[in-house]
Amino acid sequence: MPLLVMKFGGTSVADLARIENAAKKVQAEVERGYDVIVIVSAMSGKTNELVGWVEQTSKLYDAREYDAVVSSGENVTAGLMALRLQEMGIPARSWQGWQVPINTTSAHGAARFVSIPRDNIDAKFREGFKVAVVAGFQGLSPEGRITTLGRGGSDTTAVAFAAAFGAERCDIYTDVDGVYTTDPRISPKARKLDKIAFEEMLELASLGAKVLQTRSVELAMRYKVRLRVVSSFEEVTDNSGTLVCDEDEIMESKVVSGVAYSRDEAKMTLLKVEDRPGVAAAIFGALADAGVNVDMIVQNISELDNPDDKRAHTDMTFSLPTNQVDRAKKAIEEAAAAGKFAFSSLVTDTDVAKVSVVGIGMRSQVGVAARMFAALAAENVNIKVITTSEIKISVLIDRKYMELAVQALHDAFELDKA
Ligand code: ASP
Ligand code: MG
Repeated sequence: MPLLVMKFGGTSVADLARIENAAKKVQAEVERGYDVIVIVSAMSGKTNELVGWVEQTSKLYDAREYDAVVSSGENVTAGLMALRLQEMGIPARSWQGWQVPINTTSAHGAARFVSIPRDNIDAKFREGFKVAVVAGFQGLSPEGRITTLGRGGSDTTAVAFAAAFGAERCDIYTDVDGVYTTDPRISPKARKLDKIAFEEMLELASLGAKVLQTRSVELAMRYKVRLRVVSSFEEVTDNSGTLVCDEDEIMESKVVSGVAYSRDEAKMTLLKVEDRPGVAAAIFGALADAGVNVDMIVQNISELDNPDDKRAHTDMTFSLPTNQVDRAKKAIEEAAAAGKFAFSSLVTDTDVAKVSVVGIGMRSQVGVAARMFAALAAENVNIKVITTSEIKISVLIDRKYMELAVQALHDAFELDKA
């Protein structure tokens, strides 16, 4: 039997009527001849409520009990979905993580998959079951305790099952009808993409286009799992949604596929850092030890105000999430006080945003950066930091120009046209 994985997010199973609506989508695929593995999230808002209950009960909670509580939302929706399918006459049953078993590491709250043995579920399909409804987001540690994968983790559960069972496709049912060229709330000209390459999706996901959990896309790319993002609230046809796939499946790719943004960025600059081998390692080592997520890094020769001063100096600029600025400052000041490096002053700018253009077509096209910078210049947007990779160019700009920049770039690369 050909097999499909269908994943329903929190808004798609938010109440009994929506669970019924989702079950009908499953029924349609069963009628087309598929065996189906359904992965469910908790009802929307449920996981937040459970996390809140844990935090109210215990400040320094035992992570194993956190997982025991927080994983339970998915158990409810899995059971209800199985019941609804049975009511429709479809042989179905629910599976909690430990029953499959979904073997993970013991990193509670952030567990990673170790293996998903197929035997138990395959045996049920052979007995005539048509649907296995699996609770997303959870697993089993080697110690026999329940684990969770980190927020948004049921996308990753879905991809892992699609890989383990060799599914024809993994459909992610959500409350948007696909992946867009940019955020439609920022640019009304945003257009739904029919297809997008794994690598592009990975850049867009990690850049703040919050459609899929980044880890799920990484896993899909590694195992070449074709992912389709579709809306639960529309009639699904063969052309619905966005297919996230290998770039070989995309015949004609545009230079730029999407414009992403991230609003809560900050920029820090260490001025006149004494320049010698090992300073970058010392600075970013201290930041890493403090758990700061550094993104863009630029190192520049510092202007020597005293030409007689023969010692070399460098300016070190980096970007980080706004809410990590205090932690970063503390880490730098402590490391400098401990003599690990020296600098003249630390400048922080918390009013910046990052805007990026992404596209695999960039690999074979020149002049993409120039076109991007010209579009920003035409709007008088000043660029503070630039970084590039093979398929992405990112700039840091004043946050107040973020919307303008996204719109200008969307126009400049004609993303409204197919
Ligand atoms: N229910 C979990 C969460 O809200 C997992 C998921 O929905 O992906 O994070
Ligand atoms: Mg989600």
